[in-house]
Amino acid sequence: MPVADDVSAATRDVIRLGHPVLRRVAEPVPEDWFSSERLSQLADEMIATMHSEEGAGLAAPQIAESWRVLVYWVPETEDEEAIGPTVLVNPELRPVGSNQEDGWEGCLSVPGLRGLVPRYHRVKVKARLVDGKKVSITADGFHARVLQHETDHLDGIVYLDRMTSPKSLCYEEEWEKSILKEDDID
Ligand SMILES: [Zn+2]
Repeated sequence: MPVADDVSAATRDVIRLGHPVLRRVAEPVPEDWFSSERLSQLADEMIATMHSEEGAGLAAPQIAESWRVLVYWVPETEDEEAIGPTVLVNPELRPVGSNQEDGWEGCLSVPGLRGLVPRYHRVKVKARLVDGKKVSITADGFHARVLQHETDHLDGIVYLDRMTSPKSLCYEEEWEKSILKEDDID
């Protein structure tokens, strides 16, 4: 999969819950943006911001850009290779099967908190790349979780809305002390 790897781009401020853009349904990127400087700069800044904030993903609305663009990366695990920084434009996600599993999530726009969120184990995403090329991705587990978390942002949804119960919500420091698991996400 093509990756964008320009970490020299400027970083942007991440907006937090309460900023109205986080609750807006983002606009599709128009056709004439593909291969444009405008879109590649947005993508580069999103990747730089994701890395600088130590997140696993970032959606454009989180930097107050109400466009359907997301970036993410997936660290190496025992079973799977790492996925480098990836930019998806106008993604369309659908679950594959009905199997869901709980996992811990956090969010750069909801700093300091973690909560248990049910997500589909496997999803399929159709999207465009920055150059307009069409891609189709089938993802499992953590990869699928990141994609569901980030595509939700494009519809004004945050992980808190997806929690089965608010009882699992906890501060990161307490979570690290008592609950730390491998399947966390930012
Ligand atoms: Zn988030």
